[in-house]
Amino acid sequence: MTAAGLSNKYKDLDISIELVESDQIGTVGVGEATLPHIRFFNQALGIDERDFMRATRATFKLGIEFCDWGALGDSYIHPFGDYGEPINGVDFHHFWLRLLQNGHNFRLDDYSFPILAAESGKFQIPGSDNTKIGSNFGYAYQFDSTLYAKFLRSYCEDNGVVRTEGKVVDAALYPETGFVKSIELENGTQIEADLFIDCSGFRGVLIEQQLKTGYDDWSQWLPCNRAVAVPCEAAGPSLPYTRATARPAGWQWRIPLQHRTGNGHVYWNEFISDDEATHQLMSTLEGPALADPKQLYFKTGKRRKLWNKNVVAIGLSGGFLEPLESTSIHLIQEGITALIELFPDANFEGSDAVEYNRRMDLNFDRVRDFLLLHYVATQRDDSEMWRYFRNMTLPESLQEKIEAWNARGYLLRYEQGVFLPPSWVAVMAGQNLIPSAYDRRANTLSYEDVLRKTEKIRHDSHAAVANTPDHGAYLDQYGAKAAFEPLTVPSAPAQF
Ligand SMILES: Cc1cc2nc3c(=O)[nH]c(=O)nc-3n(C[C@H](O)[C@H](O)[C@H](O)COP(=O)(O)OP(=O)(O)OC[C@H]3O[C@@H](n4cnc5c(N)ncnc54)[C@H](O)[C@@H]3O)c2cc1C
Repeated sequence: MTAAGLSNKYKDLDISIELVESDQIGTVGVGEATLPHIRFFNQALGIDERDFMRATRATFKLGIEFCDWGALGDSYIHPFGDYGEPINGVDFHHFWLRLLQNGHNFRLDDYSFPILAAESGKFQIPGSDNTKIGSNFGYAYQFDSTLYAKFLRSYCEDNGVVRTEGKVVDAALYPETGFVKSIELENGTQIEADLFIDCSGFRGVLIEQQLKTGYDDWSQWLPCNRAVAVPCEAAGPSLPYTRATARPAGWQWRIPLQHRTGNGHVYWNEFISDDEATHQLMSTLEGPALADPKQLYFKTGKRRKLWNKNVVAIGLSGGFLEPLESTSIHLIQEGITALIELFPDANFEGSDAVEYNRRMDLNFDRVRDFLLLHYVATQRDDSEMWRYFRNMTLPESLQEKIEAWNARGYLLRYEQGVFLPPSWVAVMAGQNLIPSAYDRRANTLSYEDVLRKTEKIRHDSHAAVANTPDHGAYLDQYGAKAAFEPLTVPSAPAQF
């Protein structure tokens, strides 16, 4: 993504890009659910959506269904879109709260087209009139990220990026500045450059192994530190949403692609063994496993400086905050955008790195708070892990946000950060955090008017879903369906 983004912007300028990667090491091989912003990344690159979807076997994604988070047996969808629409300039959820306080029990979800469409397994690209219900929502993809990397590789090469196969084994630093002068490959080749972008994954080959930048460890807030992932045969039609189901010592993902379903169990090893976590995952698969489970280890947090000297860490080399809200690929995109805007010249003005780090720090902080919200806005106390979260001191930024919501449904707005107010409403209301009051301006309308207006939105949302095609049929009709042989179970599947 980084080479693709930079080569798109700089192909006509005097900047040459060399991409060094090692087939022997390979990529992390997980990362299947995305956020809507990836569409704008692809569009900026001039990539055709249908080509991209066929190449990566992508499905459409309307949001994430969270099961068992607020309480065992509960579920809600965090959609890519608003609830209802503001009435007289007041956010819709305040009117819903007024209804609730008057004894109605309408689901907030009933005022959200993407939620209703997801629940019915339906999808259609939003129309051009984004004021209309059925057109005013966002969508993302569920895809095979390894195929996306391959797809972008040919894009990069077409744009003049030189791809060098090889393993980086060492680097030379300028003694006076500590900047990286060159990297050395296993075969002895030295590659010099002005700027090095470290996309080497958890290893952090330059940012950490060479520059010893240090890591802000956020395990006290996001303690899950392991994952086991496995694809399986899909049962039934592919759904336009991801599922995240809370477990006693972590949570489990289910991501439907065109040709298979991706599954994983993210967990805290303090409270469950690797074998038990794998067993829990394998015993809940919807179809036969298509590969052996893959074990992954991580520590949540971020590099102390994502841009240090002449090295910029993008991707897992810069940090990882667990995949609960599909934010990693998005943070890559944020890193690329910020780097393009602050692209240095040979003098390396210190201010570029300072601003880059400030922006990226904020992005990481915001994501951390939003992820943590899922763990703390809960009534669950049925395992050690859930009890841990009940006794936690929250980051001030999150504490303030929750207090403002609880008081009267107010959402503190961030200067930067990917998740906008509707996402916060989705998780807080979805996990039974119901404010004790609402914005008083919601009382300026008579109660009958509130009922009439909200009822119309509810009715129009359901009607729009009734006119929306099934997701699977739409993939075909849209021309996004890949031609492929169905995957089959390997001859000797692993036993669990
Ligand atoms: C359990 C889990 C689930 C995830 N789920 C999601 C998700 O649903 N959505 C999402 O957005 N993100 C998700 N992510 C994150 C996502 O997988 C990554 O952000 C994404 O794959 C990018 O990874 P990367 O390129 O930084 O690292 P990698 O994929 O590890 O790639 C590193 C690259 O560097 C190369 N390399 C490494 N060392 C060397 C060396 N010494 N010499 C030469 N080359 C080298 C490798 O060959 C490889 O090409 C998940 C991550 C994990 C761990």
